[in-house]
Amino acid sequence: MCPDSCPSGCLYLVATPIGNLGDLSPRAILAIRDSELIACEDTRVSAKLLNHLNIQKTLISYREENERLKCTELASQIEDGKKIALLSDAGYPCISDPGFRLVRECHKRNLLIIPIPGPNAALTALVVSGLPTHQFIYLGFLPKKSAQVKNLLVKWQEFDGSIIVYESKYKIEKTLLAIIEVLGSDRYICIARELTKAHESILSGPVHEVSQKQSLASGKGEFTLVIGPSGYSFTGFQR
Ligand code: SAM
Repeated sequence: MCPDSCPSGCLYLVATPIGNLGDLSPRAILAIRDSELIACEDTRVSAKLLNHLNIQKTLISYREENERLKCTELASQIEDGKKIALLSDAGYPCISDPGFRLVRECHKRNLLIIPIPGPNAALTALVVSGLPTHQFIYLGFLPKKSAQVKNLLVKWQEFDGSIIVYESKYKIEKTLLAIIEVLGSDRYICIARELTKAHESILSGPVHEVSQKQSLASGKGEFTLVIGPSGYSFTGFQR
């Protein structure tokens, strides 16, 4: 259903840019305009986006810590006829971000949910990586403890496709070491950093090579890693 024709009472799941504001779709803007309330992870981040669009709306915080409580309240408002847009700080709601509980609650009450597709870091990294796309798995953020990271890598080491994970700049070096230890130093990976932003950098090649090519912990950095399947190789690239 087109957002401007939504009669009443719906949840818009709106994907927002992962860096470049130009990636916000016209349909996302329509959905935001059409909403009476914006539920968002961080109201300060979404306020900036709305300011940029010159749109004024009531913003309420919907984040991991209050998701359980807020999802029933928001679903009741939709039931009462309100149009609500759910926004993450970046990318898709529900993908390593709050949203799943609200979606489930809306389905439970048979409420209308309208997805507005758009940017997502995992798929953007995968398609540019040069690693196989016929089959892939998304593991979200890796566990905190390195023993758990290694167990997870062991579990997926024979997977015949690409593995996508989100990583912080504080853990990236440790994670690369774990990949070398468990999957071997020749395993092809892609480090996609600051996608769609001014300092975007994308490195693909054997993990032992790409991990030495730039200082990962310094400077700004949002990272998505793509790990290729065992035995896969290609020329690799850096940009
Ligand atoms: N919902 C988002 C999505 O659809 O991509 C993901 C949210 S998750 C909380 C944030 C993580 O996504 C970051 O820590 C980073 O690993 C990854 N990420 C977000 N923006 C990115 C970017 N511009 N470049 C690379 N990775 C990014």
